Amino acid sequence: MAKLRSKDSDRICSFCGKSQDMTKRLIAGPSDLYICGECIEVCAKILAEGDSDFFDFSAEIPRPKEIKEYLDQYIIGQDEAKKALSVAVYNHYKRIANPAGRNDVEIEKSNVLLIGPTGTGKTLLAKTLAKKLRVPFALVDATTLTEAGYVGEDVENILLKLIQNAGGNIESAERGIVYIDEIDKIGRKGENVSITRDVSGEGVQQALLKIIEGTVASVPPQGGRKHPNQELLRIDTTNILFICGGAFVGLDKYIENRVVEHPLGFGADSFVKNISAKELFKHLHPDDLIRYGMIPEFIGRLPISVCLEELKHEDLKRIITEPHNSIVKQYKASLAYDDVELDFTEEAIDSIAATAIKQKTGARGLRAIMERLMTEIMFELPSIPGKKRVEITKEAVEKMALPEIKTMEKKTA
Ligand code: ADP
Repeated sequence: MAKLRSKDSDRICSFCGKSQDMTKRLIAGPSDLYICGECIEVCAKILAEGDSDFFDFSAEIPRPKEIKEYLDQYIIGQDEAKKALSVAVYNHYKRIANPAGRNDVEIEKSNVLLIGPTGTGKTLLAKTLAKKLRVPFALVDATTLTEAGYVGEDVENILLKLIQNAGGNIESAERGIVYIDEIDKIGRKGENVSITRDVSGEGVQQALLKIIEGTVASVPPQGGRKHPNQELLRIDTTNILFICGGAFVGLDKYIENRVVEHPLGFGADSFVKNISAKELFKHLHPDDLIRYGMIPEFIGRLPISVCLEELKHEDLKRIITEPHNSIVKQYKASLAYDDVELDFTEEAIDSIAATAIKQKTGARGLRAIMERLMTEIMFELPSIPGKKRVEITKEAVEKMALPEIKTMEKKTA
């Protein structure tokens, strides 16, 4: 495409008909077609609104197997969680596509609770699902929320985020996915909550409950608090899928105590020692979550609970190299622009995984470790001319040192 010089005043925009002297810019396409700057801006706006990008509910909804296969490309392990989520999400969107149900049986929506240690892929699962289904997605942290009237964010702001991420299209937002992280942190703080008001706990759960179960909420378009006489956006949350996630540290003790039918857990040792954390969480019951501090109505609105497992050394190794956009693939792609061929030895990957295990941050710590390791390389290599080859070895990881750089051409500077 060629930009026209200003004197080509006989040319007109093929979209709006403005001539060159009526518009600042006119861009030429093939076969004497032109578009003016203003029309480009209008097109950009239409694209940003993203209508055409979101899922067409009259089209076929991806089947659970197809959803899981997609998740497999990005998320390592967590097979049970992936299966359960694929089914839940399929049912959710099937329900939206067939609102009347069959034989007048209305299918209730099934919000999901993800339980698992930090950095095991809870957020990644929710985010990847939204991507597969091409629905708007919003990620919020429950600890920033407070019930209306207190310092902090009103729960309605969750919906504002979703609307913004839907490019302002409320209809699309009404079918989106919201992931609420750190849900375990808004547990009731003690049995006696009526004397001093429990700002961060039960009140927030009550406020969240309304939007999770389905309501028409009023959202201030600029965020923040609602003011009288302010125009509000109305959004129906009935078809929004809420996925809540939390580490629920210590929840295993509640399960343990209940499963061994011994209120104080004494004598539970042999049973508990013989089963893995994974097995134990299979016995999870809503009562355990209520004892943990969640209110029964809230738990009732999250009928599907899915447990994620702690990632082991082998999982971390796979996470570094295998997913569609794994960290190694990202660094390789980035350095390829600087004519660098980057490789990691098996032992180097081993060592990175071992460091992450030591730090107890799950896969979350991997990027920080890699970033530290790669900074020097990313700093030095772009200034070295010609093709280069770098192999990251175990020693480079352990010492966080610059590995040997092999140049394929002579240095000139
Ligand atoms: P969580 O929400 O469970 O605390 P995240 O989903 O935010 O953890 O994970 C943090 C990062 O770690 C992700 O962005 C991803 O890069 C990586 N990660 C975590 N778990 C997995 C997994 N099972 N497979 C692939 N990558 C993972």
